[in-house]
Amino acid sequence: MSIPSEPTDPIDRYSRQVRFPALGEAGQRRLMASRVTICGCGALGTVLANHLVRAGVGHVRIVDRDFIETHNLQRQILFDERDVAENLPKAEAAARKLRAINSQVVIEPVVTDIDHTNILELVGDADLILDGTDNFETRYLINDAAVKLGKPWVFGGVIGSEGQTMTIRPGITPCLRCLIEDNPPPGMTPTCETAGVLGPAVAVIASFEAVEAIKLLGGAVDALNTELFVVDIWDWTFRRLKVQGLLGKVDCPCCGRREFEWLDGALGSHTTTLCGRNAVQVATRRAQPLDFPEMAARLVSLGDVRHNAFMLRFAAEGHEFTVFPDGRAIIKGTNDIAKARTLYAQFVGN
Ligand SMILES: [Zn+2]
Repeated sequence: MSIPSEPTDPIDRYSRQVRFPALGEAGQRRLMASRVTICGCGALGTVLANHLVRAGVGHVRIVDRDFIETHNLQRQILFDERDVAENLPKAEAAARKLRAINSQVVIEPVVTDIDHTNILELVGDADLILDGTDNFETRYLINDAAVKLGKPWVFGGVIGSEGQTMTIRPGITPCLRCLIEDNPPPGMTPTCETAGVLGPAVAVIASFEAVEAIKLLGGAVDALNTELFVVDIWDWTFRRLKVQGLLGKVDCPCCGRREFEWLDGALGSHTTTLCGRNAVQVATRRAQPLDFPEMAARLVSLGDVRHNAFMLRFAAEGHEFTVFPDGRAIIKGTNDIAKARTLYAQFVGN
């Protein structure tokens, strides 16, 4: 005769978190009923997703445009060498790992480039948006969408050993454009390529972002950070900049005048050089997904053309092409946007 197992409550696995008084059972149940969208699943995004899925946030959507390379493994904690060998997109590989960590959470991977045409759909049903991106274009787009929809988001960025984060609640705190109105021109700021990036610096900032998410979704809004937090983990300096006074005091085009220039598509481009990659992303959206077997047959004279359900890869004229079903391509071996567009037209088609 078998012994009937005790009925278990899904909340049981979070007992150590529930015992933390500021969260408690009520906070945990709120987390379990929450939805987040994580924009970008690189270094910040993998740490964010890891924390939130383990913490039991009910629905986690992970949006990323890229595939995994060996040099990502130094800091992108959800990935391993098998994922690189299988040519998996980051969002799909992260979902596989996260489902093995916590089967109670609904994980929704989305392999796409976030742009002004799709962001409202990607964040519209989320209670909170988390920044796991590596570029200001996408952050301004998130900021526009968040302010327009009145949704909170947490900004985070890391270069070298320094990182910064801020929790943005439209109407309650300043927004990103209150702080930094315009994108610094390319070449004016250090990037991961010029300055490198340390895994622990990313983990610190992503952990601060994650704890803000747990507070906000768990109902502890009074505990949220209202400052711009800057940390350098190499020399152990911490700065907390009081930015609350900017709210309503600067002529902010976004939260002040409610002009959503990034969301309207007036600012920003879809074809971009990728930070630190010697690569260009060419974004040409198609109504119908590309037919990879047909493309592979057409490109057969180039030699090694490989594809799976998520991408098709080949080399031509000294460049490596990775093409996604939506028509987007990442072309390695150049930072020249015009040249990349030409190569795209030549080998992928218009
Ligand atoms: Zn603003």
